[in-house]
Amino acid sequence: MRMGIFGGTFNPVHNGHVRTAEEIRRIMTLDRILFIPSGNPPLKSRDLADAADRYAMTVLAVVGNPVFDVSDIELVRKQKSYTVDTVRSLLHDHPHDHLFLILGIDAFLDMPNWYRPDELVSLIDIIVMERPGIASTSIAASPFLADLKPDARGIWRFPGGKTVSLVAVAPHDISSTRIRQLVRSGRNIDHLVPAPVAEYISTHRLYRS
Ligand code: ATP
Repeated sequence: MRMGIFGGTFNPVHNGHVRTAEEIRRIMTLDRILFIPSGNPPLKSRDLADAADRYAMTVLAVVGNPVFDVSDIELVRKQKSYTVDTVRSLLHDHPHDHLFLILGIDAFLDMPNWYRPDELVSLIDIIVMERPGIASTSIAASPFLADLKPDARGIWRFPGGKTVSLVAVAPHDISSTRIRQLVRSGRNIDHLVPAPVAEYISTHRLYRS
């Protein structure tokens, strides 16, 4: 099985996440996509909803989609969860599947600041999704791709064999930051998140202060 791993803060999950994941699945012929909301960091910022709420909203966002799942792997881990640990654990649990890590281009460009990024790129194939406001050409600035050239399909291959694929997707100019700002100022977010997520935010009075 070809399985996409889509991690994020999902604070909250929005239509940009869900629609681009659907498109990536189709383009990359993935069988399933596993959404992985991050756990609570040791120092939680004011506008970060609790991990349990972000997990619940992600479940609501994918309910009814038979090829999307949500994992609580980063919620249940006691210590701080790093992507490299999550990927190691999933590779261990899915020895017969082909796993792909799905990242927006902003997240991919930020990867050098992550914990053990060199190890991460040696472990798993990476799919980088375009995102409005960030030129796709900026991917060349990534130090991981510095000495490599993409092939005609926009795929970079590391000497160890793992790949980075840059995938063009329809633009959805939506961010969780914008949604939180709208909620805080009492504006409508129905067009930006799945309906059950809007309802959850309202019922649980998230992002109000
Ligand atoms: P915030 O505004 O709080 O930074 P976000 O909207 O970027 O949040 P995240 O949960 O941080 O959402 O995103 C998870 C992953 O989804 C990241 O890899 C990010 O690049 C990607 N992503 C988020 N929104 C979009 C979008 N509109 N189009 C494409 N990729 C996206």
